[in-house]
Amino acid sequence: SRENNLTVRARMHEDPNKVFVIDDGKKITYGDFLKRAGQYVASLHQHYKISKGDRILARVSKNVDAIALYVACLRLGAIYVPLNPAYTKQETEHFVKDASPSLFVTCNESADKEFVGKVQHVLKESDLSASTSKLSPNLDVENLESDDVGVICYTSGTTGLPKGAMLTHGGLSSNAEALIDCWQFSKNDVQLHCLPFFHIHGLFVAFNCTIFSHSTLLWRPKFDVSDVIKHIPESTVMMGVPTYYRFGIIGIRNKICVFFSRLCGSSKLSPDLCKTFRVFICASAPLPDEVWKDFQKKSGHTILERYGMTEAQVVTSNSYSVSKRAPSVQGKPLKGVDVRITDTGSIEVKSPSLFKGYWKNPEKTAKDFTQDGYFITGDMGQWDKNENLVLLGRSKDVIITGGLNVYPKEVEDQLDQFDEIEESAVIGIKIVLMAKGVG
Ligand code: ATP
Ligand code: MG
Repeated sequence: SRENNLTVRARMHEDPNKVFVIDDGKKITYGDFLKRAGQYVASLHQHYKISKGDRILARVSKNVDAIALYVACLRLGAIYVPLNPAYTKQETEHFVKDASPSLFVTCNESADKEFVGKVQHVLKESDLSASTSKLSPNLDVENLESDDVGVICYTSGTTGLPKGAMLTHGGLSSNAEALIDCWQFSKNDVQLHCLPFFHIHGLFVAFNCTIFSHSTLLWRPKFDVSDVIKHIPESTVMMGVPTYYRFGIIGIRNKICVFFSRLCGSSKLSPDLCKTFRVFICASAPLPDEVWKDFQKKSGHTILERYGMTEAQVVTSNSYSVSKRAPSVQGKPLKGVDVRITDTGSIEVKSPSLFKGYWKNPEKTAKDFTQDGYFITGDMGQWDKNENLVLLGRSKDVIITGGLNVYPKEVEDQLDQFDEIEESAVIGIKIVLMAKGVG
């Protein structure tokens, strides 16, 4: 039914006069936005004959029309496949071949010219944007089953070639509903959105919390310290990754030491600046204890850390109640989510938000599920005394030395306590001892 369509389940149409997105100072209401998305629906449907199940590859910039294209795909029941604009030619080739899209919308026409002829339609995002602006909006919504696929999201591929995780309308909706409950989103929220819009964190977790609570997005093109500092007083929530919050990062380029300042490195960050802010959320990579404590000292806020992945969306979260939040723990399973840790420390998840499988890869899908339907996350963890999940690292990173399992993170945590060490990475090296004269 229509109700299974994510955009209807989120009730995006309910309050047309409410401000949906603030883009560079310009306020766009839910009503006006849905008309804009409707123009994209009209274009995709009439001009490009897109319908339910067709894939749309989107290598687009972070602007409001990119949201309209995404929402139009959802409304049509087409499958949105977001790509990182920075992908190289070889990487893009893999996605084009794997996803076999009917339409490829790109912000990098010169790089993607060569796909003309291989994909039915290759369009420059600005051309599509201009040509849709004259159309009358098509406000129809496709009837769907809740396990119909809405998005194929390629995982970053830290463990091999990127795999396309199929996320369903029902799975995405149920995660959003659990999150707005857990993080107490209301229609008064204004979310400072700096994350990329092609990855689970910015595309689902952050975006869905706003649409499901009928609140407002403060749409920023990217993360920038002074930009965030400027917008903190007008917003209530921000979701980020550990690097947003820390003091800074030191990098070496051409023998020159480069210092990138982050929020804790800004002299303007203060409890007074953040006094009307509701919550800072963090995930995607380990958040060091020192960063958590430093941020608390400088902003007066304790960061709320959560854990998740493309295939399962958000799995656990720290409590919304400030007194129960803690550093270095990833919290408790969300409502409806079942997390278990095996004897060997492997984290397994069963959840209504689990993906439907890897696109065109039933063998890999089967390998990543247990007999009884749990997804094997590839992460290692344990429960602490308060029944919070504590992540120990990825199973593929475990170093076995002298018959013992050593997680790089345990060693890194110790190393990072030295003042002289800003950040460390521990890897295993195979040492082969050879007797002299033997090989
Ligand atoms: P691939 O599966 O292709 O190797 P990936 O796992 O890096 O890619 P994502 O789905 O974006 O791609 O990342 C999810 C992973 O990020 C989790 O499995 C976990 O290892 C890590 N992660 C997520 N949240 C946290 C967190 N709060 N602390 C530490 N690590 C986290
Ligand atoms: Mg992964």
